[in-house]
Amino acid sequence: MHPATRRAIFRRLQAANPAPTTELLHTTPFELLVAVMLSAHTTDRSVNAATRNLFPVANTPAAVAALGVEGVKPYIKPVGLYNTKAKNLVGLAQQLLERHGGEVPATREELEALPGVGRKTANIILNMVFGETEIAVDTHIFRVANRTGLAPGPTPRAVEESLTLNTPAEFRRNAHHWLILHGRYICTARAPKCPSCIIRDLCEYKHKTPPAPKRAARRLPLPSRVRARPGRKR
Ligand code: SF4
Repeated sequence: MHPATRRAIFRRLQAANPAPTTELLHTTPFELLVAVMLSAHTTDRSVNAATRNLFPVANTPAAVAALGVEGVKPYIKPVGLYNTKAKNLVGLAQQLLERHGGEVPATREELEALPGVGRKTANIILNMVFGETEIAVDTHIFRVANRTGLAPGPTPRAVEESLTLNTPAEFRRNAHHWLILHGRYICTARAPKCPSCIIRDLCEYKHKTPPAPKRAARRLPLPSRVRARPGRKR
């Protein structure tokens, strides 16, 4: 893709949503870390349903560790794989207490050493909490980057590297949110909404969804009261 096209795509996404953010409910870095960790293989809606239960009871590492694995499970049942995630969540809380004074650490190595935290979660925390320009690539971003031609690649890591290398600096901080929202609501996995997509003329996808065929105007029968009445002026 030509750099000018890439820039134009981000300009449009920015104009449509100047201050994008995550849809995961959170008020602290720890809450965000928990929410992102829980979001693996499940929807943000399920995560929000779980954290609406959990955070009023336990929204610090100490409180989550005190609940323990069995204590955490009932709160996070709305998310998939909640048995494994409960173990990771309590392990993560304990590790934060033991190694980081209960704070969310600021380096990739320390984040990725936490139970249940992989590269994608670490990137989101580095970006949203510590202001770095990491671009986390999830299934939505992977699809949008490949379809549009913004950053084609065979793996999420390849797409991440291409996006990091090629996204103009002024858009890098928010690129993750713009692309994830575009993938979630417009460039959906099945039947992308190309006819109403704001970047369709810039997108290089060859199999865009065509506009719906225009319906022929139906000839409605005239209401009986206006059917030809001899002598009536119209
Ligand atoms: S035009 Fe279609 S394929 Fe391209 S980004 Fe928009 S929705 Fe996705």
